Amino acid sequence: MSVDTDRDQGRDHDWIMAEAGRLAALGETAPRLARDPVNQPMINNWTEAIGDRNPIYADTEIARELYGGPVAPTAMAQVWTMYGLDPERPAHDPLHGTMRMLDEAGYTSVLGTNCDQTYARHLQPGEQVAVTTRLESVVGPKQTGVGEGYFVTTESRWWVALPDGRSEVVATMTFRVLKFRPRAAALAADLGEPVRPVVNRDTEFFWSGTAEGELRIQKCNACGVLRHPPGPVCPECHAMDRGYVVATGRGRVHSSVVHHAPKIPGKRLPLTLVLVELTEGVRMVGELLDPPETVEIGAPVVVDLVTVDDALTLPSWRLAEEGAR
Ligand code: ZN
Repeated sequence: MSVDTDRDQGRDHDWIMAEAGRLAALGETAPRLARDPVNQPMINNWTEAIGDRNPIYADTEIARELYGGPVAPTAMAQVWTMYGLDPERPAHDPLHGTMRMLDEAGYTSVLGTNCDQTYARHLQPGEQVAVTTRLESVVGPKQTGVGEGYFVTTESRWWVALPDGRSEVVATMTFRVLKFRPRAAALAADLGEPVRPVVNRDTEFFWSGTAEGELRIQKCNACGVLRHPPGPVCPECHAMDRGYVVATGRGRVHSSVVHHAPKIPGKRLPLTLVLVELTEGVRMVGELLDPPETVEIGAPVVVDLVTVDDALTLPSWRLAEEGAR
């Protein structure tokens, strides 16, 4: 009998679908109880982290009037049943089981893609929540921008026991992840494809500037403040009217670091990265080309717009003569 090594010892599509079918057929897991009942300290921490000051989440008059006391944000449903730091998972957890199965088949990377939650009602301190989960589907293989992968969809339901012994669903969640095999081409090539910047409405002016030989700095048209990295709103006056100025391309090293790991596609390591304080006052990160053994803080630098290919011109930096203009 021979083993087909090209197919990960038989961990092929048919095996994946058979395993997925087996995991889906297990149905809904047994209810897993939350570690703690719904409680005010956890609500306080969560609303503070999120920045939600809705008074119904605290012991306020409006909370007492509407709900007889404070309630928990509905979006906290998942929080109550989170696993602790203990890596142990129940063997029948379908999401965990499916992840392990796809790992075995070589689809080792994961990307969350969709999360839809539905809330039936608010929870109140003292209520004890339990969660059940089932594997809804495994769909693939699909060719995606990050590589070939399978979309895994699970459905979770949060329950509270009623005094009469029945249970009530308080929230549901459909969660979809893409479990993918990182692009073989990028792994196989020595350096791989260079990393591309995200070009959007806020950054387009910057990248078309480098392509035209200009280093551009975003400027607020309302108050005149310069800012970098670019964004939609002025941090000073909150105006959205934005333009740019063309930088002189000169500045000084504010700080530097020599990057040894991890690998960066398209780059030979080690490489020296500098945070440059431009004469215009904003700071930019870039590679320092032909770096010396030691980079002096405050050393004058000048921009070098490096054409990587037709679609990408990257601002990099070179040491300049002191006093050069
Ligand atoms: Zn402004």
